[in-house]
Amino acid sequence: YEAKRSALGVVRYHPTDERGSRRRLTLAAELRRAIDTEQLIVHYQPKMSLANDFIIGYEALARWEHPTRGLLTPDEFIPIAEQTGLITSLTQSILRQALYRCRDWQPQHPGVAIAVNLSTRDLRDRSMHATVAQLLTETGVDPTLLTLEITESSVMGDFTTALAVLEALHDLGVNLSLDDFGTGYSPLTYLQRLPVNEVKIDKSFVTAMNTSTSATAIIRAVIDLAHTLDMTVVAEGVEDEVSRRTLTLLGCDTMQGYLLSHPLTPGELSNWLDHEARRGHPHARADHRPR
Ligand code: C2E
Ligand code: MG
Ligand code: MG
Ligand code: MG
Repeated sequence: YEAKRSALGVVRYHPTDERGSRRRLTLAAELRRAIDTEQLIVHYQPKMSLANDFIIGYEALARWEHPTRGLLTPDEFIPIAEQTGLITSLTQSILRQALYRCRDWQPQHPGVAIAVNLSTRDLRDRSMHATVAQLLTETGVDPTLLTLEITESSVMGDFTTALAVLEALHDLGVNLSLDDFGTGYSPLTYLQRLPVNEVKIDKSFVTAMNTSTSATAIIRAVIDLAHTLDMTVVAEGVEDEVSRRTLTLLGCDTMQGYLLSHPLTPGELSNWLDHEARRGHPHARADHRPR
């Protein structure tokens, strides 16, 4: 339990901290079983090309269907998984589910891609590329259809190891994406050394765009920089039509956000796939992927 020392040096127990840390301890104890018993599931959020309105792929977002607490979002269990070392099996489970799903899409929607988030510990794991290679072989998914999303902060702690892990992944032919771009403090000189081919502009900039001309200027600069470095740009958290139009004018390649769709359960996803096909928003063919 967390204790806080007051100004007088008296140790006081804070009931709210205590509840929070007890909850975390319980969740930590339950997480292993959750991964083994398939309570850990994946929701899928579509990504759309701004050039032609094609759905080019989906991002896998982890969810925990907890038997008594309901549906838990990643902010509640990813940090616990990181602290307990369970992140390795968690990542593997999400990757496996996402790749099997991607394989199932291919006959009807050839070329539709999948993105999976990695965390800090995954970038310290020198067998990460072997895990990914094994799962690609197992599912038969083309490596170019897989994108792994990483954040600046997960790279910066131990840059040398992270760089080696990322280069081994890059050598498999998978895509690497820099998620939440703009929220970290990494020097560009470091970022430029990473073998990434996509940046995702953080939703805080996208949200600020409607009210702040400087946010728009930053987004414009990021898009131009990324294109100069031959990278694709995704805007995350797009919630309104005005933002979408501005991003299109600025040359942003891809959008993701509630305007298009919330993350979908596997059940909702199959309805969405049918619906989108009827609405005339075709899925990507291999030759229609941006850049
Ligand atoms: P992220 O990768 O940046 O994912 C985007 C988050 O923003 C998702 O939250 C998504 O549901 C939410 N989002 C999408 N569109 C909008 C929008 O228009 N407006 C707003 N306000 N939010 C939007 P979620 O699913 O709760 O995930 C949060 C973070 O947890 C993710 O951020 C990612 O860093 C992490 N995460 C999710 N799944 C995994 C996983 O399988 N492994 C690891 N290591 N991390 C994961
Ligand atoms: Mg992401
Ligand atoms: Mg993001
Ligand atoms: Mg984010």
